[in-house]
Amino acid sequence: QRMATTTSRFHTTTGSDVFSKIIRGEIPSTKRYEDDFCIAFDDLSPAAPVHVLIIPKLHTRGISNLFGSGAEDEVESALPLVTEPINDAEVVGKLFAAAARVAEAIGIDKTGYRLVINNGGDAGQTVFHLHLHLLGGRELT
Ligand code: ADP
Repeated sequence: QRMATTTSRFHTTTGSDVFSKIIRGEIPSTKRYEDDFCIAFDDLSPAAPVHVLIIPKLHTRGISNLFGSGAEDEVESALPLVTEPINDAEVVGKLFAAAARVAEAIGIDKTGYRLVINNGGDAGQTVFHLHLHLLGGRELT
């Protein structure tokens, strides 16, 4: 059993989920930000005037697959396309850092915004590729 803090992950994605396809450019998206690690794009069904999704360019189903069990398979599937190792805490940290940059670029950092990660069925997760929701542009209840 690996320690979550020493997990080695990779900046790549071999996933068959819709977000992996967006990363590979196989289906279109309205991009807000992109770097070597992640991509940010508008949600197709926005729940607020600003609704951006920030996703890592590696395939992991969600938070519990990073810090919980079930991570081994995903590392294996990423191996053929390895570019650069990254640990699990870094994955989450970089997503939040990118979200803050996007919020600032859009101009909602002063008015405020919400960052949400749904993990698993009870949370309403429908796309099983880790993603951070950035919501703002109106007062959120
Ligand atoms: P929920 O669907 O309950 O929000 P998730 O947290 O899994 O659950 O979020 C998936 C999000 O992905 C949804 O907000 C959905 O609108 C969005 N989405 C699904 N397909 C696309 C797509 N092709 N482009 C942009 N956003 C998408």
